Amino acid sequence: MVKPTPQLLSPLWTLPLLLVLLTAFSMVDVPVGVERLRQWQAGTVVDERSVAAYGEEHCFVAMDIPDSIFRCMVGKTYRKGCSIARSDLRYLRLLHRDAKGRIILGEMVCHRSVAEDLIAIFRQLYHERYPIERMRLADVYDGDDNRSMAANNTSCFNFRRVQGSTRLSAHSRGMAVDINPLYNPCVRTRNGMTSVQPEAGRKYADRTRGSDYRLLRGDKCHRLFTAHGFRWGGDWRTVKDYQHFEK
Ligand SMILES: [Zn+2]
Repeated sequence: MVKPTPQLLSPLWTLPLLLVLLTAFSMVDVPVGVERLRQWQAGTVVDERSVAAYGEEHCFVAMDIPDSIFRCMVGKTYRKGCSIARSDLRYLRLLHRDAKGRIILGEMVCHRSVAEDLIAIFRQLYHERYPIERMRLADVYDGDDNRSMAANNTSCFNFRRVQGSTRLSAHSRGMAVDINPLYNPCVRTRNGMTSVQPEAGRKYADRTRGSDYRLLRGDKCHRLFTAHGFRWGGDWRTVKDYQHFEK
């Protein structure tokens, strides 16, 4: 006599059941922010759990300039006559925290020779909760350095001249970074006249004036950049460019 097969073990029943269980499991376990990290819309806020699920190592990476990014750069930071090749530049994905401790998706374009330095520096600053308010490409401000600085935007590459000069800036090669520029302005004194860039940061030209984003000699940011061989604009004699590190 043939023993009847129990209905529950029939393949017709087990397959859909397995699919339902797998779907439910994956929906419960993946934080919503992981999708935001995959898409990497710079400026988006994410939580710790999403960063852990996505993998912190995937949040500090350098890549060739993607086509979609390069299209935004042409005519803005990548101006006509730009003497640096696209292939010498890198697009960085970086995380940073603001003064409230929120985790924000950042982005930066730099020269390939400093990409690894910048990844190591910004990863350490993220761990040490060093506050950086904003980290977008200067192209978001149409490559206008004054607007980018006034927005307190931390950035690197911009093919432009030094303000008030015909000399190309180290930003033109992607070899200089400006950190929290509104609160760390560039201060020039000539014939007793003091000019401050950005103008909105004039009150922070007085370096005794405190702010969460003030950069000082010997702080975490200054120590990390100088340890990686960058020079600080706050050490220059004729111009004090407190936001600026270059290599
Ligand atoms: Zn600068």
